[in-house]
Amino acid sequence: MKAFNFHQTTKIIFGSGKISELPEIAKTYGNKILLVTTPAKGPDLEEQYKRVLNLLTYSGLEVTHFDGVIPNPTVASISAGAQMAKQYDVDLIIGLGGGSSMDSAKAISVEATHPGSSWDYLFYKDQPDPSKLLPVIAVSTTSGTGSQVTQVAVVTNPNVRDKSALYNNILYPQVCIIDPELMKTVPRFVTACTGFDVFCHAFESLIHPANSAYVNMMAWQAITLVVEYLPQLLNELDNLKAREKMAWADTMAGLCIANAGVTLPHGMGMAIGGMYPHVAHGEALAILYPAFAEFTQSSDIHKFAKLARILNPKLNDLSDENAAAQSTAEITKFLKTVGLNIKLSDVRVPEEELEALAKQCMVLPDYKGNPRVATAEEMLELLRKSF
Ligand code: NAD
Repeated sequence: MKAFNFHQTTKIIFGSGKISELPEIAKTYGNKILLVTTPAKGPDLEEQYKRVLNLLTYSGLEVTHFDGVIPNPTVASISAGAQMAKQYDVDLIIGLGGGSSMDSAKAISVEATHPGSSWDYLFYKDQPDPSKLLPVIAVSTTSGTGSQVTQVAVVTNPNVRDKSALYNNILYPQVCIIDPELMKTVPRFVTACTGFDVFCHAFESLIHPANSAYVNMMAWQAITLVVEYLPQLLNELDNLKAREKMAWADTMAGLCIANAGVTLPHGMGMAIGGMYPHVAHGEALAILYPAFAEFTQSSDIHKFAKLARILNPKLNDLSDENAAAQSTAEITKFLKTVGLNIKLSDVRVPEEELEALAKQCMVLPDYKGNPRVATAEEMLELLRKSF
C-alpha cells in the first residue's frame, strides 16, 4: 500500500447550531477580536453579522468589525484589515464567511504581525514566523472552498493581474466552526459555484500524485455527496439536510486539498481569477472542467471511469475505457443541471487575451500535478475549447 502522511491541526466543530460555541472558544485566545467579513449586502448577511457580533459582545468580548473583504480578496483589502488588527491590538482574528473572508483572516494574521504586505509571503517567498502570528478561527458560511481546514490563503494583486497564495502549515486556522444553518441564505449562483468547487477539490486530489488512501476515501465520498445533494439544494436553497451534506462534503474536500493538492483546472482557474477578478472561483472551474476532462481522461482511466459512473450509474456495465470516455459528457450534463454550463466568452474574457492567459496558467505549479501535463500549445488549446 502507498505510504502517506496526513496533516491536520485545525480543531473541527461541525453541526447545525454550533455557532453558539464561538464565544467560549474565542475567549481561550484573548478578549480583543477582529471579525473579518465581506460588507453586509442585503438583509440576510446583515442579520448573520448582527447575530455573531451579539453572541461575541454579550459574552464580554471586545469586537472590531472589519467588513472590507471583497470576493477574490485583494492585497489592498487585506492591508486595510491588517491595519485595523494593529490599531486595535487584537488577540484573535475570526474570519466569518466564504473562502474570501476566511483567507483574508489568515492573510491579515500574517500582515498584521510581519513587515511588508501579504504579497511578500506567497508560498515561494519569505515565510511567516509562527511565533508571531495571531490565532485564527474560521467560521465558514459557504460550502465551499474548504478554507476552514486548509493552510492556504488565496490573494489577488490587481496591479500585476495575478492571483496566488500564501501556503504554509502554520496558516491552518486554530479552530473552525462549520454550522450549516449559517449557509441557508447563500444565493443560488454562489451555492452552485461553491458546490462545484467542492467537486473539483475532491476530484483533483484523487488524481494528484500526492493522493493517499485517506484522501481518496474522503474525496470519493465528497463527490458522491455533491452529485446527490447539490442539485437538490439548488431546488430548495434552505433545505438544511442538503446544506449539512454539502458542508460535510466541503470539509472533507478541504482536508483532501490540504493533504494532496489541486491540479490543472485550479491552476488555470487561479490565472482566470487573477486576470479577471469578476469571475467567481467556482465559475472559472466550471468553464474549464469539460476541456480538462477530455484532455486528461485517457491518462487516468480508472478514476475518470469511476467519476463518470458516480455521475451516471447506468455506465456501470461499460468497461473502464468506455466509461472514462463518457466522463466529459457526464460532467457537462452535471454542469447543466446546476446551471453552470458556461464558457469563457460568457464571462467577458476577451478572445485576444487567450495567449496571455495561457502563459499565466503555467505560472502556478498546479498544472504539473495533472496526470497529463499540458505543453504551452495544449494550454492555449484548452482555453480555446473553453471559450
Ligand atoms: P466568497 O467568500 O467570495 O463569497 C461569495 C459571495 O457570497 C460574497 O459576496 C459573500 O458575501 C456571499 N456569502 C457568503 N456566505 C453567505 C451566506 N451565508 N449568505 C449570503 N451570502 C453569503 O466565495 P467562496 O467561493 O467561498 O470563496 C472564494 C475565494 O476562496 C476565492 O478567492 C478562492 O480563490 C478562494 N479559495 C480558497 C481556498 C483555500 O484553501 N484557502 C480554496 C479554494 C478557493
